[in-house]
Amino acid sequence: MVPTPIGHLGDITQRALEILRQVPWVAAEDTRHSGPLLRQLGCTARLLAAHQHNEEAAAQRIVGKLTAGDSVALVVDAGTPCVSDPGARLVARVRAAGFRVVPLPGPCAAVVAVSAAGLNDTRFLFHGFLPTKSGQRTETLRELAALPYSLVFYEAPHRIVDTVAALAEVFEPSRTLILARELTKLFEHIHSGPLGDASAWLSADPNRQRGEFVLIVDGAPAPEDDRTGERVLRLLLDDGLPVSQAARLAHAITGVSKNTLYRLALEWRQT
Ligand code: SAM
Repeated sequence: MVPTPIGHLGDITQRALEILRQVPWVAAEDTRHSGPLLRQLGCTARLLAAHQHNEEAAAQRIVGKLTAGDSVALVVDAGTPCVSDPGARLVARVRAAGFRVVPLPGPCAAVVAVSAAGLNDTRFLFHGFLPTKSGQRTETLRELAALPYSLVFYEAPHRIVDTVAALAEVFEPSRTLILARELTKLFEHIHSGPLGDASAWLSADPNRQRGEFVLIVDGAPAPEDDRTGERVLRLLLDDGLPVSQAARLAHAITGVSKNTLYRLALEWRQT
């Protein structure tokens, strides 16, 4: 599994180069796209097509090559195979046939965007592309809306305006949206701001809608109840009530779990 650059040729890793120059076969999502790149990198491997419409047949062909003793590298158009790209079924078939699947680390748009996002929380959920039909997209967004993790989406330029509008419709407008455009390329730009302002920001300059995008939305804020529980607990403790009594009263007032409040009060006492 060989990741290739997502825009900057210099991002090919040393190990990826060595593998691509050694193997007799490279399976590629689009041989017309990868051919010139591989030639530029000095690779003389023969190409075979492995895309989402022929994955089963490609898997059989690759297993045939491996059985004959050849190694096969898998590449996609850009970035890491199997990340919003074909390859997963192929990996499963190759492993089921008893061969080793060796993953190389390397460029991946989602990881690159996360590394520069400055998220509040270390947790994130990679979603990739949203459904293109607006009803399904809204339904998917509703399912994701309450998750406390940052959400990472991929989007193409011709849908960016619609997708950002859909995000702003379903999610709280105060949540932060990071728009990471053209990563590693000449016009790389990373914009961060409230989701509610993002559509206006995009339409203020058509250039902002060009290129490839990773969108990251900050996780949903904690439900108001939990915060009310914490606030009431804090007041009762500050007034000198013992931990168990404060947790019991805060639970009675706010409905937040007594155990949660009790554990929180103990944590506060220890710090
Ligand atoms: N497998 C790839 C990876 O590892 O990132 C992703 C392939 S997916 C078919 C293509 C999408 O990835 C684009 O529509 C865009 O959302 C995102 N993407 C790829 N390159 C990018 C870049 N240079 N800047 C921002 N997003 C990019």
